[in-house]
Parts: sequence; structure tokens; C-alpha cells
Amino acid sequence: MLLIFPPVGKPCEPPAGVALLSAALKTHGIDCRVYDANADGLLYLINSVTGKDAGDSWTQRALKHRENIIADLKDPSLYKNVDRYHQRVYDLNRLLTVSVDQTRFRITLSDYSDNQLSSVDSKALLKSADTHRENPFYPFFEERVRPLVSASASPWVGISLCYLNQALVGFALAGWIRENFPDKKLVMGGGLVSSWMSRPDFNNPFSGLIDVMIRGEGEQPLLELLGVPGTTKKHYIPDYGFAANHNYLAPGRILPFRASIGCYWSKCRFCPEKAETRPYSAQRAHCVINDLSAMAEAHRPDVVHLIDNAVTPAFLRALSKREFPFKWYGFVRFEKDFTDPEFCRALKRSGCEMLKLGLESGDQGVLDRMNKGTDLSVVSLTLKNLKEAGILTFVYLLFGTSFEDKPAARHTLDYVKAHQGNIDYMNLAVFNLPKFSEDAEGLATREFYHGDLSLYLNFDHPDGWDRRHVKSFLDKEFKKELGVGSRFRKNPAFFSSNHAMFFNDLETSQ
Ligand code: SF4
Repeated sequence: MLLIFPPVGKPCEPPAGVALLSAALKTHGIDCRVYDANADGLLYLINSVTGKDAGDSWTQRALKHRENIIADLKDPSLYKNVDRYHQRVYDLNRLLTVSVDQTRFRITLSDYSDNQLSSVDSKALLKSADTHRENPFYPFFEERVRPLVSASASPWVGISLCYLNQALVGFALAGWIRENFPDKKLVMGGGLVSSWMSRPDFNNPFSGLIDVMIRGEGEQPLLELLGVPGTTKKHYIPDYGFAANHNYLAPGRILPFRASIGCYWSKCRFCPEKAETRPYSAQRAHCVINDLSAMAEAHRPDVVHLIDNAVTPAFLRALSKREFPFKWYGFVRFEKDFTDPEFCRALKRSGCEMLKLGLESGDQGVLDRMNKGTDLSVVSLTLKNLKEAGILTFVYLLFGTSFEDKPAARHTLDYVKAHQGNIDYMNLAVFNLPKFSEDAEGLATREFYHGDLSLYLNFDHPDGWDRRHVKSFLDKEFKKELGVGSRFRKNPAFFSSNHAMFFNDLETSQ
């Protein structure tokens, strides 16, 4: 069968879900072709820009250097100079932006929106399918996707939606396939589809367009659909053969790898993962290491992006005992193991280049109330040990939960100030309340975005610490006092943590 990953996602690495599906199907003798329409589609739009679209000097410059910009983004030397990097990224993004009708669409290297259709409204998604000719990717579907669908002997075409930014284009693609290939059957799955389907009020509005919707891991349901029922094998080594046909914007081959499903902690009260109650499952660490090594042997990555919600301590320990021919990075929790400097050095030797850490708050009371299971004394030691080991730290902070008030947010500011020497990157987020979380039950809530598929709510903060105040605090106090944008590393535009680890060898201090 043909599996398609539609735009828009960050075009720097292949999608993981379809690689696993491909492995599962091939293992059971089913022919499968994966097409990363995201990576190809974005470059298609970028390459569609001509002199007549270049009405300003910025666009003209970007157009003149288009090929060099793409080549530079694949060259590790660009990642030694963060300002040069940003100039290239913004120039390329400029070409993407002007490739569409800007009065209606906003497209970047990481987002997509349409001011006439909302991606959290099922009626709008169905309209996107009906009016697929209006979608900016319509010429791309005709030119690049048509030959693939025509060549596929299978009656099934799969569309994988992982991000909200893929939804409108994914449905336009579905509508286009439905109209042009009436004999094909459509199956849709992926993280976004799973989130929709895990809503208690989900009543499939897409049954007239999509033949089968799959919630959760797709391997087994897809095999059953294709006539291989009752398989017991649950783990596959991702098949990234398709990635060799695509032009990814990264200075090396990045391959995503997932060692576990769900989150081994699953207790943070603010977490959408918890609201979706995806059961946690993982294989034994040594089996996962074998799978990782087999994937590396087959596809020779320069970087492995561990895409677990949180890499388990057992797997980290197993990683620390090996020295891989690739670098790796991923999300971890502040576990006690990191308080041992030798453990952090061993991780570095194994190839660890950066760790993403969800600190959320620098106030112990907030951490306790949100059930984060994090002790700030462990955080302090972890950040210090990782810094000394040469591992970049990407720290995620979350403001405006119902567990926080302004004095607590100031504590976070003080905590970050005191530890700024050991923090490389920061991500500051304002809290969105997951619609079906247990916390939503005790709060006065309002719709955040209008749409039956919206996953978040606005709420009245019990202490008046609402979004407006939080945003103002972040801009006027937090960022100012910390010199965010000057003293910390600059978060790579559009690509963020997906490119951040490549800057571990900066030429210039920022
Ligand atoms: S550790 Fe992360 S993924 Fe796990 S429950 Fe907490 S916020 Fe969610």
C-alpha cells in the first residue's frame, strides 16, 4: 500500500510512524511504499517561486540564493554561526511564505493556517477536502502525488496525521484522492487522529470521506485491514528506506526512534498525554538497544532523535554503556541517575549531544501540586553535571497552570537566574488546559478555539493569573531580566530543538 505523510511538519527528518507501519507491512509480506509529501511538498512550493513573485528585495535575494541556502542548511559548517544560520532559514522561509496566496494562507517551515478554514473544526476539514483545488498544495498533488497513487496496485492509501498543521492539507489530499481515484480506499491514522478519537465525545464525522480511521498504534489494525489478522509481533525496526529519496533540511541524516509508547511517569496533572490515557508500554532495554543498533546498521543515521515522551531510566542506563557511531538526543525526566557526574559523562561518550528536560517550574510547591515528581535539588545537580559533561540542555518551562500564581512564577525566574550558566536553551510556554483532563473538571472553563475537535480550553485562573498576565510577565519581566535572546542560546527559528543540538560547536559566543 501507499502511505503518505502530508505537509506541514518540520522538513528536517523523516516521520517515524509511517516507517514503523512500513516495517510491519513488509515483515508480513505486504508491499508498501512511503512518501514523505511534507519534505517534498514544502520544497516544491519553495521551488515554485519565480521572479514575478519576488516583489521586494528580501524575496529577490532569497530567490537568487535559493539553491545555496538549501545546500547551506545541509552543511554542518553553517551551524557554527547562529546568525548566518538564521539568515538562511528566514530567507528560505520567505520563499515558502510568498509561494502561497498570503491574503488567505500562512505557511512557514513549521506551520500552516488558512484564514477561511479551521484545523480544529471537522466541517472545515471536510470543506478542505471538497475544495482541495484551492489548497496551495493542489498543483503538487497533481504533479508529484498522482504518479504514485496511479502506480500503487493496492486499493488502500494511508494518510498519517501527527500534527495539527497537517490537518487541512491532509484532508485536502484525502478529498483529491477521493475525487481522482474513486476506487481507492482511504485509511487515516497518526497521533492527531488518535487524539481526536480518544475524546469521549468523538462521533466520527469523517465516515463519508475516510473509510477507516485508526486510533493508537497502527501496525496491528493495518495488518488486519490488509488481510493479516492475529499477528502477535508488536515491535518492528523502523524502515527508513524511503528517507533516502527525500531532501531533508539538516546537516546530517536524522532518524527518529521511539523506545517506548506513552509515558512511564504519566502522573503530571497538566499533561495532555495523561488526559488521553495512552497506556505505557516498553520492551526490555536490551531488546530496544538491539533494535536501535539494527536500525542504525540498516540506515546509517548521523543523529538519532529519541522521540519518546520521556526516555526511561532503564534505557538511558543501557545507552550509557554503549558508544554509538551516531549522536543522539531526546526528552528525559530529571531522574536521580543524572546526579552522578560519571553517568552524565558516560551518556556523552555514548553519543548524547543534547537532552530536553521538562522542568515546567522553578517553584517546588508548584512542582509538587502538579505531581511532576521532580525535586529541584536533583534539577540543580543534573543541569550542572550535564553542562560539565558537554551535553546541551534544552529546558522547557510552563507558565499559567492552575497550580501557579505570580509569586511562584517569580520563583521560576529566580531559579533560572541562579542556574543560567547551566541552561543552554529554554522553551517558554503558556499553559493550555487539556479539554478532558481531570483538572478541567474543577475549573470554570471556556472554549479556546471554536471547533468540535479542539483539544484545549481556556479557564478562569483561581488566583487571576490568566494568560494575559502570564504573557505580560514573560515579556516584561522574565525575558527582560534574564536577557533571553542574548545571554541564552538562540532557539533555532522554526526548527527549534530539531536543529538545536547541531550548535554544540559554536564559533562565536552569543
Ligand atoms: S513526564 Fe511529560 S509526558 Fe510524562 S506525564 Fe509528565 S508531562 Fe506528561
